[in-house]
Amino acid sequence: METGDDMTMRKKLLICLGVIIGGMMLLSADMRHLSAFEIQIGSRMLDTRKPMVALTFDDGPHPGITDEILKILDEYDSVATFFIVGERIEKNSEILKEMIRLNCELGHHTYSHQDMSRLSESELKHQLEMTQNVLNEVVDPQYVMKIARPTFGNTSTSLLNYMEFPLILWSIDTRDWSHKNKDKSVAEVLMHVQDGDVILMHDDYQATLEATRILVPELIQRGYQLVTVSELFTYKQIELLPSRIYKSAHSMVS
Ligand SMILES: [Zn+2]
Repeated sequence: METGDDMTMRKKLLICLGVIIGGMMLLSADMRHLSAFEIQIGSRMLDTRKPMVALTFDDGPHPGITDEILKILDEYDSVATFFIVGERIEKNSEILKEMIRLNCELGHHTYSHQDMSRLSESELKHQLEMTQNVLNEVVDPQYVMKIARPTFGNTSTSLLNYMEFPLILWSIDTRDWSHKNKDKSVAEVLMHVQDGDVILMHDDYQATLEATRILVPELIQRGYQLVTVSELFTYKQIELLPSRIYKSAHSMVS
């Protein structure tokens, strides 16, 4: 005969067991849930729920600057986007090959840094085609650029009418070309940075290289993942459409 105490003890044990098994099931369900947000890109593991920003560099490549920026990105398993000038491709093909090897993104910025907003449709097409063709001839026969940054940040109705790529502006302007001061660039980014930002810099200044050396580890330390422009918009579920202007991938809910 079991006593009342034995019965109570058995019930308690069963309840404990139930709680433990239930907890384990919940935990494993949560772990499966977690992995659905993680994406492996090369050696990088992106968590699409965590903050991300895109560093962008215009007007390069420039030897001694761009290649050093790539070393920093590689060291921290991060990537950036480079809006390249077509006429600089041939002399800097090795730097561009390294960008592609590291899964960085390349985007249009015209062949000879022309003001896109003032070009005719045929002139613009020519500038973009020349850049893409040289890139395929001397760097990578497969790589296709899918985004563009308007030179000088200038847009016009005519540009919007015939541009066949999404136009990527920015949400943080370091103004590095103007002050050429690493501390000012770093401060501008760290004071304003938020999830979904597109950060504008230029890879033709020593001060920008030095700012990048500080910013990359610091942004990572603050919980940001450094991604390309296309990755940023993809994982924020914003479709990039031709002839549209994009400044950031900030959440629509603020
Ligand atoms: Zn430019």
